[in-house]
Amino acid sequence: MVSEMITKNLIDGVWRDAADGSTIAVTDPATDALIADVAFGGDEDIRAAIESSAGAQPAWAALSAKDRARAMRRFVEVVSRDADVLAHLITAEQGKPLTEARGEVVYGLGFLECAAEEATRVYGELVPSWNAAKRISVMQQPVGVTAAITPWNFPFAMLARKVGPALAAGCTQIVKPAPQTPLTAMALCAMALEADIPPGVVNLVLAPGPIFSKVIFADSRVRKVSFTGSTDVGRELIALSARNITRLSLELGGHAPVIVLDDCDIEKAVVGAVQAKFRNNGQSCIAANRFLVASPLYDDFCSRFAEMAKKLTVRPGCEDGDVGPLIDDAGVTKVRRHVEDAVDRGAKVLSGGELLDLGPGFTDRFFEPTVIAGVEDDMLISTEETFGPVAGVSAFTSDAEAVLRANSTPFGLAAYVFGNDASRVLRVVEGLDFGIVGVNDGLPSTAQAPFGGMKASGIGREGGKYVMREYLETKYVSTALS
Ligand code: NAD
Repeated sequence: MVSEMITKNLIDGVWRDAADGSTIAVTDPATDALIADVAFGGDEDIRAAIESSAGAQPAWAALSAKDRARAMRRFVEVVSRDADVLAHLITAEQGKPLTEARGEVVYGLGFLECAAEEATRVYGELVPSWNAAKRISVMQQPVGVTAAITPWNFPFAMLARKVGPALAAGCTQIVKPAPQTPLTAMALCAMALEADIPPGVVNLVLAPGPIFSKVIFADSRVRKVSFTGSTDVGRELIALSARNITRLSLELGGHAPVIVLDDCDIEKAVVGAVQAKFRNNGQSCIAANRFLVASPLYDDFCSRFAEMAKKLTVRPGCEDGDVGPLIDDAGVTKVRRHVEDAVDRGAKVLSGGELLDLGPGFTDRFFEPTVIAGVEDDMLISTEETFGPVAGVSAFTSDAEAVLRANSTPFGLAAYVFGNDASRVLRVVEGLDFGIVGVNDGLPSTAQAPFGGMKASGIGREGGKYVMREYLETKYVSTALS
């Protein structure tokens, strides 16, 4: 049982302090209480992790598919057994309600389960040759040493969906979690060790992001980096990857539109809208940001949506309300800026709009679930990722207009459509430039599906069988017969 809180970096199977002794405080976003001081590494630690990963990779890749799958299944068993340990860590350091944290563990575990299955399905091919005297075979081989950089909003699931497939493909991985939420990642790595994943197959170094990327991209042994985080950092990584032509997967920001067609079941649409907007307090890359509602339904939708938002309880994660605190003060500032900008320019707050005072001991990061009507397409809420509990609603008059406005963003991660006429919905879906579309579904994320975005939302897909190609190199062999 992984019951002791781990606060160190994992290098070559050993929990280590940072080489220079640095630590960073991890605090509870609901109270600012210190949870732990954890090792905060630098160049030397990252280089040691690369050495270890490079050393461990050949033997890990040489295991039979069956043995790797067996190791992955043991990993799944340990994580399942300790699911509640992870859920409590997630709530403590990230702030989400405990029920949601448990949901994140189930969701993230799905990526490990898929990976355990995919480990035995890395098939090659024989290609019919155009030359009768030659044979062409295609093999899939592990990319090699990889690195994973993850954000704070889903500290378990975002990591599980990188570590799982990397290991299943025969790669090793150096993990760098977000500084706000390293404890969940450290616990996950402890579970990998307990499952007898060999030392060096997973290493973890918490370090400042720019230092981590500088060292990782400078070393040509690191063949791939998988990043989930903001589009701005993603752009920096693309530039850094030029040096060694390091392969990249990028899961970046979003700005999800929700299209509510006039023939939808309005009750279901409102429930879906609440899920798509307020899960994880809006701090999700697929969180709905813009609600485009068919004008005949507009008033009814707005009032029902606002009523439901008002009923959501805002509590510290450990008290398991509907919504927890925002992660930090910068998150609060951004949310307030979006509300103020909309109100100053004529939009109307229908519910929420203010910070909540939960009393002594609690931070000023609890923001009321907020619905704003009459937003315009050029307001901040319509153009920037809010990453908080604020929904902007506006009306549209034709399906074509809704699709055009939905697509008028640099982002292309997730979109939502609520409607009942299957043909009409399909036409709208086909017109949307987004990698994920929820149809009458406010919670489309699931481990088997190819999760990822178009345009500035990223490169590559994670989940199910689709992620495996991110960790595999294709090699073809042309054999001339004698
Ligand atoms: P962020 O980009 O600030 O940080 C993400 C990670 O990158 C953290 O571990 C951070 O320490 C690290 N980092 C920061 N600067 C770095 C650098 N120069 N080099 C290397 N690493 C660096 O993002 P965040 O605020 O932690 O997360 C929120 C963002 O992540 C949002 O934009 C959200 O949409 C996005 N996100 C996307 C997905 C997806 O699947 N598309 C999922 C979750 C979050």
